[in-house]
Amino acid sequence: MGILKKMGVLEDLIEKAGGCAVVDGGLSTQLEKHGAQFNDALWSAVCLIQDPDLIKRVHLEYLEAGADILITSSYQASLPGFQSKGLSIEEGELLLKKSVELAVQARDKFWDAKKIISEHSYNRALVAASIGSYGAYLADGSEYSGCYGPIVDLDKLKDFHRRRLQVLVEAGPDLLAFETIPNKLEAQALVELLEEENIQIPSWICFSSVDGENAPSGESFKECLDIINSSNKISAVGINCAPPHFVQGLVQKFKELTGKVIVVYPNSGEVWDGRAKRWLPSKCFDDEKFKLFATRWRDAGAKLIGGCCRTTPSTIRVISKALKENSGP
Ligand SMILES: [Zn+2]
Repeated sequence: MGILKKMGVLEDLIEKAGGCAVVDGGLSTQLEKHGAQFNDALWSAVCLIQDPDLIKRVHLEYLEAGADILITSSYQASLPGFQSKGLSIEEGELLLKKSVELAVQARDKFWDAKKIISEHSYNRALVAASIGSYGAYLADGSEYSGCYGPIVDLDKLKDFHRRRLQVLVEAGPDLLAFETIPNKLEAQALVELLEEENIQIPSWICFSSVDGENAPSGESFKECLDIINSSNKISAVGINCAPPHFVQGLVQKFKELTGKVIVVYPNSGEVWDGRAKRWLPSKCFDDEKFKLFATRWRDAGAKLIGGCCRTTPSTIRVISKALKENSGP
């Protein structure tokens, strides 16, 4: 595939999907439903070691539910993270590759079965390699505070992301999904890294938000998006793992700040206590609400919509159905 064609895969998918494509839902949430347990800083990446077939099964469940994009199980998988568990660099790199391979295998298996049926409503899904923020690796909740402290500078962030980025790209995903980025500094590091590494597949950068107004660091999204707008390596920008009631306002805000595709996949609205590493009960945003709000987010300008933590294939099924039932303008 030519470089231009590769850089256009996201736009092509959105067009095929009728103007708004569906991102999958929470991976670890669904792995846990199947009995996986993550009491570990590596979180769902543990499953890459212990039960890779289960990851593939969950990818297939999301495809069946109508996801147009699968996000790989590499969010919390990092080379220093694996090393701290006693794995060698080579073993860690193989696990990163495997995260992409599992999603590609699930996509191909699903599509091989669907493409021979004359009538179905599925699109050939894309595989987005997940790259969690530096804070996700620290596993101290800083992906939601944006506070990396004074010793973390641009070069440290680039060095942290560089090798994982190279390994994931070599494994052949369709795009890169940078997730829960909490501050301007990390956005800058990623923009520079994509340029330095001359990455030839599209990326999206998603920020988290804890106040519905700004990046978790308190920096304005205008500051963050000005950096991203300057990069032609980044196709889409948006919000993930923020509460769903922030999304509509943030889509409207982003629409004014960028010409790039807007991507949103909020969590269910339950509150993650990053220090205690547990979900605090709160009034939950159920699937019915996702159904109602998915079309509002689309009408506000989002072109990629899915779910993050605590959302499941049933959430994605209602989102997919709602978006297909009333295709947008
Ligand atoms: Zn999440």
